[in-house]
Amino acid sequence: MDFLRPTTWAEALAAKADQPEAVPLQGGTDVMVEINFAVRRPVALLDLTRVAELATWSVQDGRYRVGAAVPYSTIISELGGPLPGLAQASRTVGSPQIRNRGSVGGNLGAASPAGDSHPPLLAADAVIEAESLAEGVRLIPAAEFYLGVKRNALRPDELIRAFHVRAAGGPQYFSKVGTRNAMVIAVCSFAVALWPGERRVGTGLGSAAPTPRRALKAEELLAGELDWDAPLDPALLRRFGELAALAASPIDDVRGTADYRRHAIDVMARRTLTWAWHDHLGRRAA
Ligand SMILES: Cc1cc2nc3c(=O)[nH]c(=O)nc-3n(C[C@H](O)[C@H](O)[C@H](O)COP(=O)(O)OP(=O)(O)OC[C@H]3O[C@@H](n4cnc5c(N)ncnc54)[C@H](O)[C@@H]3O)c2cc1C
Repeated sequence: MDFLRPTTWAEALAAKADQPEAVPLQGGTDVMVEINFAVRRPVALLDLTRVAELATWSVQDGRYRVGAAVPYSTIISELGGPLPGLAQASRTVGSPQIRNRGSVGGNLGAASPAGDSHPPLLAADAVIEAESLAEGVRLIPAAEFYLGVKRNALRPDELIRAFHVRAAGGPQYFSKVGTRNAMVIAVCSFAVALWPGERRVGTGLGSAAPTPRRALKAEELLAGELDWDAPLDPALLRRFGELAALAASPIDDVRGTADYRRHAIDVMARRTLTWAWHDHLGRRAA
């Protein structure tokens, strides 16, 4: 097995162009498990840990550009204010060790339907910055990034450089059901992001379909019927939960049944919107 160790982004892109079959390695919390369990035997590993710029983030005009290697622990400690939904999701990932090594870039690379960063990225209209030596930079909306179970929109010679996301315009919440409280892959998950300036609510479902996805009909319902100055209408809330559950197309597996997942999405959708609405009205009153 070749072990490629670029020290700059330009070298990393050149190495990926030269050997598109090389498997990128960031925190290694997915890749090393797969190698240890012989799930994959890559002909080459492309170790990105020396490319320092991948582990940095910046902000311009309220838009955050977060390097692919920024670990969950940094998102929690440094970005919890502007990106609260993603920070909440990050807090639920694995253990402190996994949160210190694991990255959103790796979560995106793995593209598991159960990855915890995906629902808040979808709810906040995040954009993934991919790059290749041949084609340069490509900006891919999160909603177009997930193509199938553990399949994403990256081309063989592309690497993830960063993701871009706006600072929260209103309250954001993430909820995850697991078979225990910590160190658990989601049975299913749900994220909500309020954008009061646009009178819009973003959503994201995890582990409830072949790919992470938005609950578009539930979003449309709120865009049409939500009164942003009033308490939540219980009938509207109920309909929101139903439409969120209808957006799911889950499977039965060892972690839960499809029926249970649909029910849990309904509950989490209503719960997260209620929490967010409580904050929204509280901020207006303050
Ligand atoms: C004990 C344990 C608990 C876990 N708990 C959770 C959990 O609760 N929630 C959750 O979502 N995940 C969990 N995971 C999975 C894993 O930690 C996450 O998916 C994490 O985000 C992976 O990040 P990483 O940097 O370690 O990625 P890596 O393992 O380095 O890479 C993951 C994938 O992304 C690709 N990749 C990495 N960087 C790039 C790049 N720059 N460009 C293109 N492709 C790239 C790799 O080739 C690989 O396919 C857990 C894993 C373990 C071992």
